[in-house]
Amino acid sequence: MSQFASVETDVLIVGAGPAGLTTSCLLTRALRDVVVIERDPHTVGGIARTIDHKGFLLDTGGHRFTSRSRAVEQFWRDLLPGDFVERPLVTRTWRHGTLQPHPLTAVDALRSLGPGDAAAGLLSLAAAKLKPIDGPRTLREWGHNAFGRHLFEALFRDRIEKACGKHCEAIPAERARETFDDLELGSPFWSSLADLSATPGGPSFRLPGRTLRYPRRGSGMLWNAAARKTREQGGRILMGHTLVALAFDAALGLWTATAETSDGGRLVVTARTVVASGPIPDLCGALRPTPISLFSARALRHRALVSVPLMTLRRTCFPDHWIDINDPTVKAFRVRNFGAHSPEMVPHPDVACVAVEYVCEEGDALWSMPDHEVVALARSEVERMGLLRPRDVIATGVLREAKACPLLDEEAEHHMAMVRLDLERTYPTLHLVGRNGTHGGHRQEHAVLSAMSTVQNILAGERIHDAWNPAREEARWSDGRGAKTSEMEAA
Ligand SMILES: Cc1cc2nc3c(=O)[nH]c(=O)nc-3n(C[C@H](O)[C@H](O)[C@H](O)COP(=O)(O)OP(=O)(O)OC[C@H]3O[C@@H](n4cnc5c(N)ncnc54)[C@H](O)[C@@H]3O)c2cc1C
Repeated sequence: MSQFASVETDVLIVGAGPAGLTTSCLLTRALRDVVVIERDPHTVGGIARTIDHKGFLLDTGGHRFTSRSRAVEQFWRDLLPGDFVERPLVTRTWRHGTLQPHPLTAVDALRSLGPGDAAAGLLSLAAAKLKPIDGPRTLREWGHNAFGRHLFEALFRDRIEKACGKHCEAIPAERARETFDDLELGSPFWSSLADLSATPGGPSFRLPGRTLRYPRRGSGMLWNAAARKTREQGGRILMGHTLVALAFDAALGLWTATAETSDGGRLVVTARTVVASGPIPDLCGALRPTPISLFSARALRHRALVSVPLMTLRRTCFPDHWIDINDPTVKAFRVRNFGAHSPEMVPHPDVACVAVEYVCEEGDALWSMPDHEVVALARSEVERMGLLRPRDVIATGVLREAKACPLLDEEAEHHMAMVRLDLERTYPTLHLVGRNGTHGGHRQEHAVLSAMSTVQNILAGERIHDAWNPAREEARWSDGRGAKTSEMEAA
C-alpha cells in the first residue's frame, strides 16, 4: 500500500554521491538543517560507491584520492583518518598489441611503433613544430600540433575517443588539458613535447602520481563516512527516494519536492534551498514552472558504463592497479585490478578480482547485450591481451551504470550555457552541483570542489563562486595562502 509523508527542511539535497554528501557534511557542520534524498535504496556514494559482490569489493568510479586542492585533501583526511592505504602505483597501457609502461617514455613509445612508424612519427612531429595548425579548434587539431599527426593518432586517439564517446574532431580544443588530465595521458616526456608547442599560458599537464592512495575498503568507504558525519551533525539521509517533481513558489520563496520511495510511497519535502546533483535533463523535466531551457536540457546526453568483474586466483592475475587500452580492436577501455588498490578489497589473499570496463550508450548493442555475452566478450578480450586465461576465471558478474558520464562536445557547451543562464536567473535558491549536476567531465575531486563552492554560495546568500567550473575554482581552494581553506574551516 502506498504511503504519503512530508518533511520540512532548510536545504534539500538531491543525491548522496560525492557532491551531495560533501554539501551535506559542510552545511550540517555550519548548523544548517539538511535533508538528503537518494534514489539508491541501500548504498551511498553515487558512481563512487563500493559494491559488495560475494565478498569482493567493486568500485565503478573515482579511483584517485589525491588533489591539488588543500581543502579537498583535508576534507578526505578528516573523514577517514588512518583508513587510506598508499602503494606504489603500477599501471601499463595496451597499445599496438603489447603492454607498454606508464608513464610512457620517448624510447618506449618509439620502440612500440617500430622503425618505420617511429621515423614517420618524428617527421610528423617536426612538421607540426615548423607549421602548426593556426588556432586549433578541435582536440584532433590541438593533438596534431602538440605531438605531430602520426604520434597523436597512434598513441592517444583511441583511448580518448573511447572514454569521451566522441571523435576527436568533435571535441573542442579547449577541453584538451582537462581530457589529458582526466585520462592521465600526460607523462614527463609527452608534457615536455607539448610544452614545446604550447603558447604561453596554454595547457600544461597534471603528471600521474607515483603512488596510489586509496580507502582500504574502496571509494565507497569515504562516502559512507561522509553520510555518517552528516547524520552525526543532525542531517537526515533518506535512501530509496527518487525526486520526481520540484515546484517553486516564487511568492513564498519555497520549494516543494516530491520523491517516490522504493516501496511505492511518496514523500513531500518543503525547503528554502535545493542542491541538485542528478542529471540535468531529469531535473529540468521535474521542475515547475517548466524552465524555458527544457529543450537545451533534454539535448544533453550521457555515456553509460558496463563493467564486468572477473574473479580469479591471485597467482594468475597481473600486478597492475589498472591497464589502459589504446587499441581500436579491443572494445574495453580499461581493466582494473581491485586487490592491487587495497588488500581488503578481496575476501582472501589468494584471490583477485579485475573489472573489464566498457563505455557505451544506454540502449546500444553493448548495453543491451545479455549478461553471458558481455562476460564472454570480456573473457576473450583479457585473454587476447594476455592478462588472464579464461579457464582461471572462477566467478563473474555484470554491472550496468546508466548516465555514468556526461557527453561533452561543442553542442553540450552551448546547451549548458542556456540551461545555466535560465536556471540561475529564474531560481536563485536552486544550486546544481557535481559531475552530472553541472554536466562536466569532472573527476571526483571536482565534484567535491563544486560542492564546496556551492556551500560557500549558500552561506553567503549569493553566487560568489563558480560551482560549474571546479577546475577554475581549484586555484582558489589551493592558493597556498589558505584564504579559502580557512573560510571553509570557519564554516
Ligand atoms: C568509469 C568512471 C571512471 C571514473 N574514474 C575516476 C577517476 O579515476 N578519478 C576521479 O577522480 N573520478 C573518476 N570518476 C568520476 C567520479 O566517480 C565522479 O566525479 C563522482 O562520482 C561524481 O560525483 P557526483 O556526486 O557529482 O555524482 P554521482 O556520483 O553520479 O552521484 C549522484 C547521486 O545522485 C543520485 N540521484 C540521481 N538522480 C536522482 C534523483 N532524481 N533522485 C534522487 N537521487 C538521485 C544518484 O543515485 C547518485 O547517488 C569516474 C567515473 C566513472 C563513471
